[in-house]
Amino acid sequence: MSDSLPIEVVTGVETVPAPTERTSPAIEVSQLSRWFPGVHAVQDVSFTVERGQVIGFVGANGAGKTTTMRILATLDYPNSGEAKICGFDVVKHPVEVRKRIGWMPDHYGTYSNMTVLEYLDFFARALGYQGQERIDRIAEVLEFTDLTGLAHRLIDQLSKGMGQRLCLGRALIHDPEVLILDEPAAGLDPKARVELKHLIRILSQEGKTVFISSHILSELGEMCDSLLFINQGRIIHHGSAESLRRRSSATALVEVQLAGSIDRLREWAMLAPHVSFKEATKNGGRIEIDSVEGEIISTVLRRMIQDGLPVTDFHIQERKLEDAFIEILGELEASGVPIAS
Ligand code: ATP
Repeated sequence: MSDSLPIEVVTGVETVPAPTERTSPAIEVSQLSRWFPGVHAVQDVSFTVERGQVIGFVGANGAGKTTTMRILATLDYPNSGEAKICGFDVVKHPVEVRKRIGWMPDHYGTYSNMTVLEYLDFFARALGYQGQERIDRIAEVLEFTDLTGLAHRLIDQLSKGMGQRLCLGRALIHDPEVLILDEPAAGLDPKARVELKHLIRILSQEGKTVFISSHILSELGEMCDSLLFINQGRIIHHGSAESLRRRSSATALVEVQLAGSIDRLREWAMLAPHVSFKEATKNGGRIEIDSVEGEIISTVLRRMIQDGLPVTDFHIQERKLEDAFIEILGELEASGVPIAS
């Protein structure tokens, strides 16, 4: 809908003024909470996603990602707080919300007797597409997800990657503005991951808002405008991947390989200024230097050689987003916040 003036929307028995769509954010969550017996799955969660952004939703198993996403997808109710999609409240106006979202759950049911085409056709009919428009829409989705050649294959004969593309295709049939994708890359091999990432990039270039959960932080970092970290039902960080990398760049992590015993590196690091030993690796170890200045790093390397360590390789590791995430968790733990295992 492109009207910028408020219009009337009827949902069930309720008649309410529609929000001014163009001005409202794609996703707006405010003090959202959901609890189950003995578990506070989502606690006082608030965040906003502007139109056209790609947001990564990151957290450990059981952190509250799926619960939050299911509420956004109108599949569950919050106990308190509110959530809106393009200005429409997910509880009060679920029909308006469903028109605007494409939901991809973390697993799809088994439809062993259906072909790819029948599956998409079933959902297209359910969404109200008829005649030529339905045929065209399905053809577009098949082409986008690179499934045209597999249209007549039974779903249980698809690989995991093909199945995930089909599931994404299903979420795209009605050309929604906002995509909510729960762990779409889980269980995919590297090639299928790259393909999925490519599709998400195209969708983002088309101006869609993508809210995507994953455990694979490094991949999310590449394609997301910002990352939202959730831990034990609470948002613990919201920022760009770049700002996350920066926050852990006060020290340099260096991988050292040695011709001799790793113990020599460990003992040397105990006495050397600016250096601490982090962990052993296959042919050496990882050390941390308390500065990122080139002069200090080269001094450390020079000293290693002068002290007779049989160094065969010395290189600075790029900071991973995972390091930043672990750092944030460590800071929270130090301040007394319980951390999920
Ligand atoms: P994962 O990455 O493993 O999918 P998640 O971050 O998506 O985890 P949720 O599925 O949202 O986490 O679960 C959050 C917490 O709520 C967990 O402790 C989970 O056991 C609990 N939970 C979720 N759904 C229900 C339910 N229907 N009944 C009871 N507890 C639930």
